[in-house]
Amino acid sequence: MYDLIIIGGGPAGMTAGIYAVRYGLDTLVLEKNVVPGQIATADRVENYPGFPSISGMELMNKFKEHAEHTGVKTQTADVENIKDEGNKKVVVTDNGDFEALAVIVATGANPRRLGVPGEDEFLTKGVSYCATCDGPFYSGLNVIVVGGGESAVTDALILSDIAEKVYVVHRRDELRACSLLQKRAFDKENITFIWDTVVQEIKGSDLVEKVILKNTKTNELTEMDIDGIFIYVGINPNTSMVDVEKQGAGFIVTDDKMKCSVPGIFAAGDCRRTSMWQVVTAVSDGAVAAISAHEYITSAKYEN
Ligand code: NAP
Repeated sequence: MYDLIIIGGGPAGMTAGIYAVRYGLDTLVLEKNVVPGQIATADRVENYPGFPSISGMELMNKFKEHAEHTGVKTQTADVENIKDEGNKKVVVTDNGDFEALAVIVATGANPRRLGVPGEDEFLTKGVSYCATCDGPFYSGLNVIVVGGGESAVTDALILSDIAEKVYVVHRRDELRACSLLQKRAFDKENITFIWDTVVQEIKGSDLVEKVILKNTKTNELTEMDIDGIFIYVGINPNTSMVDVEKQGAGFIVTDDKMKCSVPGIFAAGDCRRTSMWQVVTAVSDGAVAAISAHEYITSAKYEN
């Protein structure tokens, strides 16, 4: 029986591990992938203090090294379910059951799908959610990026150095991304913005060949020839394994101490309902969750 099991080894989970071990908790981090965390797929991270420009993978490896150096134990396992047995939580995984007094859910989020015809059919055949991963296939070709947030603009910039032309299709006439990223994108000669427009359908034969675009103001439909489509319309949390109060797409509801609706279960990072999904806020959540879990575990041990 561990004191604490942390599910997810991204920035929130690794930080929670570092704090928990330093507070004397016997802690295990369960991670699905060898290098977990959505941030590991980011080409460049430029807003994590102390690192003016670092690749997401390098930053994640540094978190991992730091956690292991502190004494955090990690194990690869895909968590299927968390059973709440009062003072004991049983974490059911594809690699057996693990028991702990408390659990921190730091399972992050994945890109949200657009939900239009052709999206599933052309996945990996012209439809992508990651420019860092798939961008190099589009050298000299024309692509569209869907969305107006930080992910869309960041990846449009990456693609602009690879593709011939990048069209950013956004449903409004104003971006959500920070002004620094906006300025960089507006300054790029091969990025064109298509405002007030959504993708209605993705078409092709073996590979993507065209998209049907719809103007949100006039409802006018246009067909556009394109080689690839990169989709960034938000994130969905990975929280199906835990039965606690959630909101919206499944973001876990916590209080400001990262406590969930079930005593002994805490949440941190992108899987949590919050106002900012950033590495810096995930790290902060992880620290707060670990201290709260320590308080909970200490009082549970004292009661017994
Ligand atoms: P986001 O901020 O939620 O932006 C999603 C974008 O997609 C919005 O522009 C939204 O339009 C649009 N959208 C949503 N549903 C749509 C639909 N059905 N059809 C067309 N467009 C749709 O998501 P994100 O950019 O993935 O970012 C997620 C979080 O990660 C954010 O907190 C972001 O700050 C963070 N992030 C940070 C960095 C960084 O710090 N460098 C990089 C990437 C992501 P509206 O604007 O009209 O709502």
